[in-house]
Amino acid sequence: MSLRQPMVEVRGARKSFGAVEVLKGIDLSVERGQIVAIIGPSGSGKSTLLRSINHLENLNGGEVWLDGLQVNQPLRGQAFERHINKVRQQMGMVFQHFNLFPHLTVIENITMGPVILRGMAKAEARGLARGLLSKVGLSDKIDTYPSRLSGGQKQRVAIARALAMQPKVMLFDEATSALDPELVDEVNAVMKQLAAEHMTMLIVTHEMRFAGEVADRVLFMDGGVVVEEGPPGDMFRAPQKERTRSFLKKFL
Ligand code: ADP
Ligand code: MG
Repeated sequence: MSLRQPMVEVRGARKSFGAVEVLKGIDLSVERGQIVAIIGPSGSGKSTLLRSINHLENLNGGEVWLDGLQVNQPLRGQAFERHINKVRQQMGMVFQHFNLFPHLTVIENITMGPVILRGMAKAEARGLARGLLSKVGLSDKIDTYPSRLSGGQKQRVAIARALAMQPKVMLFDEATSALDPELVDEVNAVMKQLAAEHMTMLIVTHEMRFAGEVADRVLFMDGGVVVEEGPPGDMFRAPQKERTRSFLKKFL
């Protein structure tokens, strides 16, 4: 395995729902430690692309690779289940809605994955979880139930839970869209810290300022295709395509 091999690679991804093709041949390559922001209008296929990367959606065509391993392998039945569970453990996903288990405390939410999926000893998992909670600034919420947390705190727990699986890549799908504006920064700060630690990340976002600050590359999707991509400076200051310009105008 070469170190130059991309961490995530998508080749010619196609996905239809019924007669409607929502991904029309997407190519995407994310290097180890790289941060790619995906922007684009609602309905352009951003979520479907992220969901296809960890096989929550099954592509109709094309390939997804994670660190040299093909995700959408033509295996069947239990062999595929075993394969995909292993792959998913290596990708952390954070959604708009937090999806914490309401009947589990914060630390139980975080230790569950490592204990059940990885067979980690409970004490070790609790140690790991404590470290992650300190990292996301929630050491004082360790035994709290999710219903007692603010949206920003829930989302930080969701990030800590994903990190507990020690993923190779983190996928964020509008992680701050459901939050009150004053809670957005605390979640973005955690993502920025991960960026500083060279976590490989794919971030779907409507926050152009944040994308400009955190991303190495910005990718603009519209109508199921990648219209344009480049470093944030170029994309935001001098977009080449008319579709990109008219989309970005709305955020000025
Ligand atoms: P975005 O995240 O950019 O807003 P999505 O990937 O969620 O876009 O959706 C792209 C298109 O696919 C939309 O037209 C949406 O209605 C459609 N779509 C997404 N998921 C499904 C589904 N499970 N069944 C049918 N249509 C879907
Ligand atoms: Mg979406």
